[in-house]
Amino acid sequence: LALPQESGHWQRYDAELEQQLRQRQIMQDELADALAADEFQLVFQPKIDINSGRLSGAEALLRWHNKQLGQVSPVHFIPLAEAGGDIIAIGDWVQQQALQHVNAWYRAGKVDNDFTLAFNVSSVQLMQPTFAERLIEQIAALQLPPAMVEVEVTESGLMDDVELARAQLETLADAGVGVAIDDFGTGYSSLSYLKSLPVSVLKIDRAFIRELHLSSQDQRLVETVIDMARHFECKTVAEGVDQVEQMDMLRRMGCDQVQGFLLSPPLREKAFLQLAQLGFDHLFQDE
Ligand code: C2E
Ligand code: MG
Ligand code: MG
Ligand code: MG
Repeated sequence: LALPQESGHWQRYDAELEQQLRQRQIMQDELADALAADEFQLVFQPKIDINSGRLSGAEALLRWHNKQLGQVSPVHFIPLAEAGGDIIAIGDWVQQQALQHVNAWYRAGKVDNDFTLAFNVSSVQLMQPTFAERLIEQIAALQLPPAMVEVEVTESGLMDDVELARAQLETLADAGVGVAIDDFGTGYSSLSYLKSLPVSVLKIDRAFIRELHLSSQDQRLVETVIDMARHFECKTVAEGVDQVEQMDMLRRMGCDQVQGFLLSPPLREKAFLQLAQLGFDHLFQDE
């Protein structure tokens, strides 16, 4: 057996590939037991209002630590979980944990009702016909203001079945739950779906932010996205902001919120709440 390589050369099916497949199998097996073994944890990355510097919300991100594999990035295990079907149970766990956390913070007065906790939803989850209904029920059971919760879905996730996605997002939006398009700009879909979907937030992918302060092409692109979002009454969040120059430029362009290492990496609950209390004034000193 031979496999084509990018270079156009052919390489023998060798030990290296076999090793990769074995690793993948181990990861898949470990993933199936990870929930029961309590190996998951949520971390929280703050989002701030770009003009006031106020904490506006956070994104919950999943972490997996396995005895055998160590810390595994969601970039690697989420696609496996999606392929193997484990994402439904894992996604339910993420959702339940996210709701419990934001509810506890709200009840304890650590965040106000204008704070939004976002979590990532895989297209596999979104394509369950009862997804939106169940989320709304869980929010209602906590008596949490629905606007404090936001789901992040990717463009490609919506394109799997646009009609089903639209029905789910409309149910969520009608209930007041926020809907964010994640990694905006990296998908293949046309912009026209924006006017037909009840989207409240566009998250501009960090691919367009990385060299924003250096590239006039990226500047034009990001400016266009922000203007367009305004037309559709969507808020814009720039992800992957790690330089002051990027933030200053985004502010001039009219971007609403920023998220990235400049403000903070994703943090465990305790550290997140400490930072939330401390605030981000140090970044806005010369304003
Ligand atoms: P995403 O939703 O676009 O999340 C943003 C990712 O960018 C996070 O990586 C975050 O740590 C990283 N990031 C934030 N600020 C910066 C920065 O300034 N510079 C750089 N270089 N990176 C930054 P993470 O946590 O590894 O997550 C990667 C992806 O995995 C997420 O991308 C999301 O697609 C997926 N993911 C994470 N948690 C979940 C989850 O609970 N469910 C699902 N379905 N997917 C998840
Ligand atoms: Mg996200
Ligand atoms: Mg993103
Ligand atoms: Mg991204």
